Amino acid sequence: MSDEKELRYDPATIEPKWQQRWAADPSLYAAEPASCGKPKFYVLEMLPYPSGQLHMGHVRNYSIGDALARHMWMCGYNVLHPMGWDAFGLPAENAALKNNVPPREWTLNNIAGMKRQFNRLGMAFDWAAEVTTCLPDYYRWNQWFFLRMYERGLAYRKKSKVNWCRECATVLANEQVIDGRCWRHEDTIVEQRDLVQWFFRITAYAQELLDGLDKLDGWPEKVRTMQRNWIGRSEGTEVDFFLEEKIDQGLGTRDEGLGASRIRVFTTRVDTIFGATSVQLAPQHALVAGFTAADAALKTQVDELIEQQKKAREAGDLGAIEKHGVPTGHFAINPYNGERVPIWIANYILADYGTGAIMSVPAHDERDFEFAVKYGLPIQQVIHPEDKSMAVVLPFVSEEGVLVNSGEFDGLNCAEAEKRLQQIAAAKGFGEAKVTYRLKDWGVSRQRYWGTPIPMVYCQAHCEGDGPLPVPDEQLPVLLPEQIEISRRGGQGGSPLARVPEFVNTTCPKCGGPAKRETDTMDTFVDSSWYFYRYTDAKNAKAPFDSDIVKYWFPIDQYIGGVEHAILHLIYSRFWTRVMRDLGMVENDEPVRRMFTQGMVIKDGHKMSKSKGNVVSPDDMIARYGADAARAYSLFAAPPDRDLDWQEDGVAGVSRFLARVWRLTTKYAPVARAGRGDGAQAAVPTGVSLKLLRKLHQTIAKITLDFDGRWHFNTSIAAVMELVNEIQAADAQLAAGEVPPAVMLELLRSLVLLLAPFAPHLVAELWEELGEESSVLRAPWPASDPELAKEDELEVPVQINGKLVTVVRVAADADAKTLEAAALADEKVQARIAGKTVVKLIVVPRKLVNLVVK
Ligand SMILES: [Zn+2]
Ligand SMILES: [Zn+2]
Repeated sequence: MSDEKELRYDPATIEPKWQQRWAADPSLYAAEPASCGKPKFYVLEMLPYPSGQLHMGHVRNYSIGDALARHMWMCGYNVLHPMGWDAFGLPAENAALKNNVPPREWTLNNIAGMKRQFNRLGMAFDWAAEVTTCLPDYYRWNQWFFLRMYERGLAYRKKSKVNWCRECATVLANEQVIDGRCWRHEDTIVEQRDLVQWFFRITAYAQELLDGLDKLDGWPEKVRTMQRNWIGRSEGTEVDFFLEEKIDQGLGTRDEGLGASRIRVFTTRVDTIFGATSVQLAPQHALVAGFTAADAALKTQVDELIEQQKKAREAGDLGAIEKHGVPTGHFAINPYNGERVPIWIANYILADYGTGAIMSVPAHDERDFEFAVKYGLPIQQVIHPEDKSMAVVLPFVSEEGVLVNSGEFDGLNCAEAEKRLQQIAAAKGFGEAKVTYRLKDWGVSRQRYWGTPIPMVYCQAHCEGDGPLPVPDEQLPVLLPEQIEISRRGGQGGSPLARVPEFVNTTCPKCGGPAKRETDTMDTFVDSSWYFYRYTDAKNAKAPFDSDIVKYWFPIDQYIGGVEHAILHLIYSRFWTRVMRDLGMVENDEPVRRMFTQGMVIKDGHKMSKSKGNVVSPDDMIARYGADAARAYSLFAAPPDRDLDWQEDGVAGVSRFLARVWRLTTKYAPVARAGRGDGAQAAVPTGVSLKLLRKLHQTIAKITLDFDGRWHFNTSIAAVMELVNEIQAADAQLAAGEVPPAVMLELLRSLVLLLAPFAPHLVAELWEELGEESSVLRAPWPASDPELAKEDELEVPVQINGKLVTVVRVAADADAKTLEAAALADEKVQARIAGKTVVKLIVVPRKLVNLVVK
């Protein structure tokens, strides 16, 4: 029974061998058609940007999904586990500027390199479903969707603010603005300019996107909360304050027939309106220009407010802005009581929220109170607790109260008052009940080259007026020209595409005369909003996908990615799904049933990043320890939802563990192989066999539960380690042949199966070593036998008056009576209760005995 084979675990030999075999058999990881009759499981990790290098965060993210995919295959599911590339975007243009490589070439090279890395990691991706968003076979469908949205009024143009660098003479993305200056011109302050931009009307779905969150119980609560806040629904009232004096015509608050004589404010507490002691405008409010035109000093102050707001916006926390304001010297009239209040301009009022104007009620709002105290504005209490005798500390922000100092509305509770005041406003035409959202329409125009061209043209003969004309479907795709000079040219602005006459000049689809193409490209979030539908039918040349195939696979059963995508990507894709549903293309409302956000990989206290110089390269780790060790470590070192502190010692430790599994299995594989078809398995196990089988079945139960539940793969792998320890501890008995071959086979076979989601190469090799011929992915996941897993004895703690006195050993299935008897018979217990009275006895089978004695 000796095994002369060299017992050395060598991932550098094993891993490439299996990668070659897997590459030669694409059916191994391929999804099957719906007709296969198996239940489906769609597991997806967010697709990477092809930067050229996988990093450890990727390794972790994909190891989680890969483990789940493998587990589900073994559980008998038809698994879809695809991969693709979020391949448009600014870095390719920057690389082109820097290295003079065309963006397409740079991107496709990076994809090839990262694909090699994925394969070197042994990831089980269905490459037949690969999607590369920068290729025309994909982005033509972005254009097609754009046209469908345009037809339905969901894509439209409007003027909007953009970042503009005078030196670059072009628009900058937000990430190119650093401390308010151009990323390439540190001395140049970035300006805000108005530019006509394309938008998607996501706000049309605001309420539905909000309501849908309630049903997404498979999503992390923090992601749902972030989305709720992002959508930011508030119920309230719009009310017009009247301008005391007429200022120049044409400076109206909102051009809705209200004229220039009113300021419309949005408030969630119209019941407090008798306590309004000022009206406050955003610095960009339409009225402000009129005030500042006649007041140079005011203009300077307002510019400062705008600057402060911009800085706070860049710092990422507008809510934390230090509040400043300036009085305009103008006054507004409260429409309910005719009271005259000053008009201020304040830096914390946002032009794009509500109406860009508020009424300030210091007595009943924290923020207004702070502002009023700072600037000495009056504070007028108008709400009091129902219990008149209660003292009130201002600001009193509760809505549980009644109105005071509010004329004919005194005595009404807040809710009644709100309703009455809204009715009056509506009847008299100075306001209405209103729901507002913080969510804004999605600006999709980018003045960049490396993105999907927007399929619109402008007729030079203006045969349809000045408006855009959609490119007919049969002319799609509007191809991105491949050879293009990206370098900036002084004095010119806009998209680099505007400088490519072959692209720009076209014919009008309506009159056939000369026309110019739209030169803006689409935000790359468009690409990622629906890519996972394309995976199900990636080669379809006639449609984005076949609806029947999508109906089978959707919603995605499990999506895995970073929490940094909680807002934009995960809201946009929920919006896109609803648009497709309303186009009759899909039946699901939501794209993703269960969402998982993994933690970050950190090292030396910081997230791995080039700038911190703490990046660990997957290639290095693979060269040193093998892909299996790198993958298993990334799952073992922390629960997947927590941050992982990368320790190379830990990788080495996991590598040593895999080597032990290797030695153990190869050593006893000949015995196990002899157990195949051996009837001895039917015999009731005893002795060391029973002990090892019990541990095995407990381990199976635990890991199976980990996959169903919280994915604490760190404890799963720890459990396999314990199992291996226990088998190794019995080495003398194994060597002496005390464990029959059939039991040996079950032990080793199951050990290998349990590791299959975590260390696929090693497992494939050992699976073959055990005499198995088909892929381990086609072998059923082991089932735990509850009888075998059951401990025959348990230790149960015994407490007296709440203090632990001893533990008693009883049969695991001992009932309360038996356990009580065992506890009372214990010597230590007898000594403690001698001469006393047991007044109470609590027995929890398997868990606890507690005696209360006097
Ligand atoms: Zn610049
Ligand atoms: Zn025309």
